[in-house]
Amino acid sequence: MVAASVIDDVMLNSPVTQINYSGEKVIATIANGDTFEADRILITASVAVLKTGGISFTPALPQAKLQAIQSIGMDAGMKILLKFNQNFWNGTSLIGAENSPVYWNASYGKNGSDLVLSAFVMGEKAETLSALDQGAITQLLSELDAIYNGQATSSFVDGLIQDWSQEPYIRGAYSYSSLGIGNQRSVLAESVNNRVHFAGEATATNGHFQTVQGALESGEREFLAMLESVQ
Ligand SMILES: Cc1cc2nc3c(=O)[nH]c(=O)nc-3n(C[C@H](O)[C@H](O)[C@H](O)COP(=O)(O)OP(=O)(O)OC[C@H]3O[C@@H](n4cnc5c(N)ncnc54)[C@H](O)[C@@H]3O)c2cc1C
Repeated sequence: MVAASVIDDVMLNSPVTQINYSGEKVIATIANGDTFEADRILITASVAVLKTGGISFTPALPQAKLQAIQSIGMDAGMKILLKFNQNFWNGTSLIGAENSPVYWNASYGKNGSDLVLSAFVMGEKAETLSALDQGAITQLLSELDAIYNGQATSSFVDGLIQDWSQEPYIRGAYSYSSLGIGNQRSVLAESVNNRVHFAGEATATNGHFQTVQGALESGEREFLAMLESVQ
Protein backbone atom coordinates (compact mmCIF):
# COMPACT_ATOMS: atom_id res chain seq x y z
CA MET A 1 0.00 0.00 0.00
CA VAL A 2 2.72 2.45 1.02
CA ALA A 3 4.98 1.34 -1.84
CA ALA A 4 2.32 2.25 -4.40
CA SER A 5 2.12 5.79 -3.09
CA VAL A 6 5.87 6.44 -3.27
CA ILE A 7 6.91 4.35 -6.26
CA ASP A 8 7.02 7.36 -8.59
CA ASP A 9 9.56 9.04 -6.29
CA VAL A 10 11.98 6.11 -6.26
CA MET A 11 15.33 7.08 -7.81
CA LEU A 12 17.69 4.40 -9.07
CA ASN A 13 21.45 4.78 -9.60
CA SER A 14 21.66 7.55 -7.01
CA PRO A 15 24.06 6.41 -4.27
CA VAL A 16 23.94 8.43 -1.09
CA THR A 17 27.40 9.70 -0.17
CA GLN A 18 26.68 11.99 2.80
CA ILE A 19 24.05 12.26 5.50
CA ASN A 20 23.92 15.41 7.57
CA TYR A 21 21.66 15.21 10.60
CA SER A 22 23.14 18.14 12.52
CA GLY A 23 20.20 20.46 11.87
CA GLU A 24 16.45 20.24 12.20
CA LYS A 25 16.17 18.30 8.93
CA VAL A 26 18.21 15.37 7.69
CA ILE A 27 20.02 16.20 4.45
CA ALA A 28 21.15 13.39 2.16
CA THR A 29 23.62 14.11 -0.63
CA ILE A 30 23.85 11.74 -3.59
CA ALA A 31 26.86 11.09 -5.82
CA ASN A 32 26.02 13.81 -8.37
CA GLY A 33 25.84 16.41 -5.56
CA ASP A 34 22.05 16.72 -5.46
CA THR A 35 20.64 17.02 -1.94
CA PHE A 36 17.38 15.87 -0.40
CA GLU A 37 15.83 17.07 2.85
CA ALA A 38 13.62 15.03 5.15
CA ASP A 39 12.40 14.72 8.73
CA ARG A 40 13.72 11.17 9.00
CA ILE A 41 16.02 8.90 7.03
CA LEU A 42 16.07 5.10 6.85
CA ILE A 43 19.40 3.52 5.91
CA THR A 44 19.25 -0.02 4.54
CA ALA A 45 22.77 -0.31 3.10
CA SER A 46 24.44 -3.60 4.06
CA VAL A 47 26.63 -3.66 7.14
CA ALA A 48 29.59 -4.31 4.80
CA VAL A 49 28.86 -1.03 2.98
CA LEU A 50 28.60 0.77 6.33
CA LYS A 51 31.97 -0.72 7.35
CA THR A 52 33.68 0.89 4.33
CA GLY A 53 32.62 4.39 5.39
CA GLY A 54 31.27 5.02 1.89
CA ILE A 55 28.48 7.08 3.47
CA SER A 56 29.83 9.91 5.62
CA PHE A 57 27.77 11.17 8.54
CA THR A 58 27.65 14.65 10.08
CA PRO A 59 27.89 14.54 13.04
CA ALA A 60 29.80 11.24 13.08
CA LEU A 61 27.73 8.24 14.20
CA PRO A 62 27.93 7.54 17.94
CA GLN A 63 30.79 5.32 19.05
CA ALA A 64 28.41 2.50 20.05
CA LYS A 65 26.91 2.44 16.55
CA LEU A 66 30.37 2.37 14.93
CA GLN A 67 31.34 -0.45 17.27
CA ALA A 68 28.20 -2.42 16.25
CA ILE A 69 28.96 -1.92 12.54
CA GLN A 70 32.47 -3.27 13.06
CA SER A 71 31.43 -6.20 15.29
CA ILE A 72 28.81 -7.71 12.99
CA GLY A 73 30.57 -9.92 10.44
CA MET A 74 30.01 -9.80 6.69
CA ASP A 75 32.56 -11.46 4.44
CA ALA A 76 33.04 -12.18 0.78
CA GLY A 77 30.62 -14.49 -0.99
CA MET A 78 30.36 -15.69 -4.55
CA LYS A 79 28.70 -18.18 -6.86
CA ILE A 80 30.52 -19.52 -9.88
CA LEU A 81 28.37 -21.22 -12.50
CA LEU A 82 30.11 -23.75 -14.71
CA LYS A 83 28.41 -25.06 -17.84
CA PHE A 84 29.53 -28.34 -19.39
CA ASN A 85 28.64 -30.43 -22.44
CA GLN A 86 28.57 -33.69 -20.53
CA ASN A 87 27.28 -34.80 -17.18
CA PHE A 88 30.56 -36.23 -15.83
CA TRP A 89 29.40 -35.71 -12.23
CA ASN A 90 26.50 -38.07 -12.76
CA GLY A 91 23.77 -35.67 -11.72
CA THR A 92 24.66 -35.45 -8.04
CA SER A 93 25.97 -32.45 -6.13
CA LEU A 94 29.53 -32.62 -4.83
CA ILE A 95 30.13 -31.67 -1.20
CA GLY A 96 33.45 -31.33 0.63
CA ALA A 97 35.87 -30.12 -2.05
CA GLU A 98 38.73 -27.78 -1.14
CA ASN A 99 38.20 -24.59 -3.18
CA SER A 100 34.43 -24.69 -3.09
CA PRO A 101 32.81 -26.60 -0.24
CA VAL A 102 29.92 -27.38 -2.53
CA TYR A 103 29.22 -27.78 -6.24
CA TRP A 104 25.45 -27.87 -6.61
CA ASN A 105 24.00 -29.69 -9.57
CA ALA A 106 22.16 -26.56 -10.76
CA SER A 107 20.44 -28.56 -13.51
CA TYR A 108 18.68 -30.81 -10.99
CA GLY A 109 14.92 -30.91 -11.55
CA LYS A 110 15.11 -28.45 -14.46
CA ASN A 111 13.45 -29.15 -17.79
CA GLY A 112 16.21 -27.54 -19.84
CA SER A 113 19.13 -29.43 -21.32
CA ASP A 114 21.90 -27.23 -19.86
CA LEU A 115 24.38 -29.05 -17.64
CA VAL A 116 25.48 -26.65 -14.92
CA LEU A 117 27.37 -26.94 -11.65
CA SER A 118 27.16 -24.03 -9.21
CA ALA A 119 30.02 -23.46 -6.78
CA PHE A 120 28.93 -21.56 -3.66
CA VAL A 121 31.91 -20.10 -1.81
CA MET A 122 32.02 -17.86 1.25
CA GLY A 123 34.55 -16.22 3.56
CA GLU A 124 38.31 -16.65 3.12
CA LYS A 125 37.96 -19.06 0.19
CA ALA A 126 35.77 -16.54 -1.61
CA GLU A 127 38.37 -13.83 -0.97
CA THR A 128 41.07 -16.03 -2.51
CA LEU A 129 38.96 -16.84 -5.58
CA SER A 130 37.81 -13.23 -5.90
CA ALA A 131 41.45 -12.09 -6.14
CA LEU A 132 41.97 -14.47 -9.08
CA ASP A 133 39.21 -12.77 -11.08
CA GLN A 134 38.42 -14.99 -14.15
CA GLY A 135 41.24 -17.30 -12.98
CA ALA A 136 38.77 -18.53 -10.36
CA ILE A 137 37.09 -20.58 -13.08
CA THR A 138 40.38 -22.27 -14.02
CA GLN A 139 41.04 -22.97 -10.35
CA LEU A 140 37.70 -24.72 -9.90
CA LEU A 141 38.04 -26.64 -13.16
CA SER A 142 41.43 -27.93 -11.95
CA GLU A 143 39.83 -29.07 -8.73
CA LEU A 144 37.04 -30.87 -10.61
CA ASP A 145 39.60 -32.36 -13.02
CA ALA A 146 41.46 -33.87 -10.08
CA ILE A 147 38.23 -35.48 -8.84
CA TYR A 148 36.77 -36.50 -12.21
CA ASN A 149 39.86 -37.57 -14.20
CA GLY A 150 40.26 -34.38 -16.23
CA GLN A 151 36.70 -34.42 -17.53
CA ALA A 152 35.83 -30.91 -16.31
CA THR A 153 38.22 -28.91 -18.50
CA SER A 154 37.61 -31.08 -21.55
CA SER A 155 33.82 -30.68 -21.34
CA PHE A 156 33.76 -27.04 -20.13
CA VAL A 157 31.54 -24.75 -22.23
CA ASP A 158 31.16 -21.48 -20.32
CA GLY A 159 31.44 -19.93 -16.85
CA LEU A 160 29.85 -17.06 -14.97
CA ILE A 161 31.14 -15.47 -11.77
CA GLN A 162 28.76 -13.66 -9.43
CA ASP A 163 31.03 -12.04 -6.87
CA TRP A 164 29.05 -10.03 -4.32
CA SER A 165 32.20 -8.78 -2.59
CA GLN A 166 33.00 -6.82 -5.78
CA GLU A 167 29.56 -5.19 -5.89
CA PRO A 168 30.27 -1.67 -4.54
CA TYR A 169 26.85 -1.34 -2.90
CA ILE A 170 26.71 -4.82 -1.33
CA ARG A 171 30.35 -5.83 -0.64
CA GLY A 172 29.76 -9.34 0.64
CA ALA A 173 27.31 -12.18 1.10
CA TYR A 174 25.25 -11.54 4.22
CA SER A 175 25.90 -10.71 7.85
CA TYR A 176 26.96 -13.32 10.38
CA SER A 177 27.24 -13.33 14.14
CA SER A 178 30.92 -13.05 14.93
CA LEU A 179 32.29 -14.36 18.20
CA GLY A 180 31.14 -12.24 21.14
CA ILE A 181 28.58 -10.35 19.05
CA GLY A 182 26.32 -9.92 22.09
CA ASN A 183 23.53 -7.43 21.45
CA GLN A 184 25.30 -5.58 18.62
CA ARG A 185 22.46 -6.23 16.17
CA SER A 186 20.10 -4.37 18.53
CA VAL A 187 22.60 -1.52 18.81
CA LEU A 188 22.80 -1.32 15.00
CA ALA A 189 19.00 -1.32 14.83
CA GLU A 190 18.67 1.66 17.21
CA SER A 191 17.88 4.99 15.62
CA VAL A 192 20.21 7.94 16.17
CA ASN A 193 18.48 10.98 17.65
CA ASN A 194 15.19 9.36 16.58
CA ARG A 195 15.87 10.61 13.05
CA VAL A 196 18.49 8.38 11.47
CA HIS A 197 17.04 4.88 11.29
CA PHE A 198 18.68 1.60 10.29
CA ALA A 199 17.10 -1.46 8.68
CA GLY A 200 18.36 -4.40 6.60
CA GLU A 201 18.97 -8.04 7.42
CA ALA A 202 21.90 -7.31 9.74
CA THR A 203 19.58 -5.35 12.05
CA ALA A 204 17.14 -8.25 12.50
CA THR A 205 16.92 -8.96 16.20
CA ASN A 206 14.30 -11.73 15.95
CA GLY A 207 16.70 -14.35 14.58
CA HIS A 208 15.86 -13.71 10.92
CA PHE A 209 19.16 -12.04 10.04
CA GLN A 210 20.80 -13.20 6.77
CA THR A 211 17.40 -13.51 5.08
CA VAL A 212 15.08 -11.57 2.81
CA GLN A 213 12.39 -12.09 5.42
CA GLY A 214 14.56 -10.46 8.10
CA ALA A 215 15.33 -7.54 5.77
CA LEU A 216 11.64 -6.98 4.99
CA GLU A 217 10.60 -7.24 8.63
CA SER A 218 13.27 -4.75 9.67
CA GLY A 219 12.04 -2.30 7.03
CA GLU A 220 8.51 -2.57 8.39
CA ARG A 221 9.80 -2.22 11.98
CA GLU A 222 11.59 1.02 11.20
CA PHE A 223 8.81 2.38 9.00
CA LEU A 224 6.36 1.97 11.88
CA ALA A 225 8.85 3.50 14.34
CA MET A 226 9.32 6.52 12.08
CA LEU A 227 5.58 6.91 11.65
CA GLU A 228 5.04 6.74 15.39
CA SER A 229 7.73 9.32 16.07
CA VAL A 230 6.13 11.94 13.80
CA GLN A 231 2.55 11.49 15.04
C1 LIG B 1 24.36 -16.40 -2.52
C2 LIG B 1 23.28 -15.91 -1.63
C3 LIG B 1 22.18 -16.70 -1.41
C4 LIG B 1 21.14 -16.27 -0.58
N1 LIG B 1 20.07 -17.08 -0.39
C5 LIG B 1 19.04 -16.64 0.37
C6 LIG B 1 17.87 -17.44 0.55
O1 LIG B 1 17.76 -18.55 0.01
N2 LIG B 1 16.86 -16.95 1.33
C7 LIG B 1 16.94 -15.74 1.92
O2 LIG B 1 15.97 -15.32 2.59
N3 LIG B 1 18.04 -14.96 1.79
C8 LIG B 1 19.08 -15.37 1.03
N4 LIG B 1 20.20 -14.59 0.88
C9 LIG B 1 20.31 -13.36 1.68
C10 LIG B 1 19.49 -12.21 1.14
O3 LIG B 1 19.80 -12.02 -0.23
C11 LIG B 1 19.87 -10.97 1.96
O4 LIG B 1 19.70 -11.24 3.35
C12 LIG B 1 18.97 -9.79 1.62
O5 LIG B 1 19.03 -9.50 0.24
C13 LIG B 1 19.42 -8.58 2.40
O6 LIG B 1 18.56 -7.52 2.10
P1 LIG B 1 18.92 -6.07 2.62
O7 LIG B 1 17.78 -5.19 2.17
O8 LIG B 1 19.30 -6.09 4.05
O9 LIG B 1 20.26 -5.67 1.84
P2 LIG B 1 20.51 -5.51 0.28
O10 LIG B 1 19.72 -6.51 -0.50
O11 LIG B 1 22.01 -5.48 0.14
O12 LIG B 1 19.88 -4.09 -0.04
C14 LIG B 1 20.55 -2.91 0.31
C15 LIG B 1 20.28 -1.88 -0.77
O13 LIG B 1 20.96 -0.68 -0.42
C16 LIG B 1 21.52 -0.13 -1.59
N5 LIG B 1 22.65 0.74 -1.21
C17 LIG B 1 23.84 0.39 -0.67
N6 LIG B 1 24.60 1.48 -0.47
C18 LIG B 1 23.86 2.55 -0.87
C19 LIG B 1 24.09 3.94 -0.91
N7 LIG B 1 25.25 4.48 -0.51
N8 LIG B 1 23.12 4.75 -1.39
C20 LIG B 1 21.92 4.23 -1.81
N9 LIG B 1 21.64 2.91 -1.79
C21 LIG B 1 22.61 2.08 -1.32
C22 LIG B 1 21.98 -1.33 -2.39
O14 LIG B 1 22.14 -0.97 -3.76
C23 LIG B 1 20.82 -2.28 -2.16
O15 LIG B 1 19.80 -2.08 -3.11
C24 LIG B 1 21.24 -14.99 0.05
C25 LIG B 1 22.34 -14.17 -0.18
C26 LIG B 1 23.37 -14.63 -1.02
C27 LIG B 1 24.54 -13.72 -1.26
